[in-house]
Amino acid sequence: MYLFRRFPLLLIVWATVISTSPQARTPDEAPRQSLRLQVSLFNDAQVDPATLARAQSRASAIFAHSGIEVDWLVCAAADPGDFAPRRTACSTLSWPAHLSVRIRPGALSASADTFGQAFVDAGGEGVYSNVYYQNLSRSSRHPELSDAEMLGCVLAHELGHLLLGANSHSASGVMQARWDASTLRIAAESSLFFTPAQSAALRSHLPRPCEGTSAACPAQRPVLISIAYRP
Ligand SMILES: [Zn+2]
Repeated sequence: MYLFRRFPLLLIVWATVISTSPQARTPDEAPRQSLRLQVSLFNDAQVDPATLARAQSRASAIFAHSGIEVDWLVCAAADPGDFAPRRTACSTLSWPAHLSVRIRPGALSASADTFGQAFVDAGGEGVYSNVYYQNLSRSSRHPELSDAEMLGCVLAHELGHLLLGANSHSASGVMQARWDASTLRIAAESSLFFTPAQSAALRSHLPRPCEGTSAACPAQRPVLISIAYRP
C-alpha cells in the first residue's frame, strides 16, 4: 500500500512487508557550523508534557545529526471558536526557517496507519504538517519504542518533508515512506537519521547563521499563505 498515490499529501505509514533495505547507520560527517530551524509545535492532542519534551529531544537529536539546531515554540492548541486569531510568534511562519507541525489526536482524511502528513506546494516548499498521535502511540507494533521516541521520529520526518519537498522519501533513514520492523529497531537504537544526502539538502535550504549586526542579516522570505496540493 502506497498512500502517496491516493492522497495529494506526503504520508508515512506502517509497512506490511519486512524490508531488508540498508539503513542510515553511518553518522554524517560532523558539520562545522549548526544552522537553525524554528518550529511552531501545536499540541492539539494534549500529549503530556513529559512525553512531548522527550519527543522534542529525539527530533532535535535527529536534526542535530544533520548539523541543524531546532528552536521549538510550544504553541496553544487552536480554538475552533476563534474566527480571527491574533497573530503571534507561533503563527509567523516562513519557509524555510520557521515551520510548523500540529500534533492531532487522529486523522480525518487518512487511514489509521498513517502517522503524519506534510503540505508541500508545487515548488517543494511548505510550512504546515500534521502528526497523528493516536495512530503512532500505544501500538503493539513498536513495543521496543516509547511513544515519545516514536513521536520524535515522526516529527522529524514530517518537518523533513517541509524542507526537502514532495519526492523526498528514501529507502533508508528517517525519510522512509513505510516504517517496518527494521526501521523501528533502528529508531529504538536512536540511530534513525536523515541520510547524508538529505542532511546536505536540508542544510542547503536553511539560511547561514546571521553574524554581525541585524542589518547584515538577509530578509526573511514572505509567509506562505496558501497551499497548492500536488495533483
Ligand atoms: Zn513521508
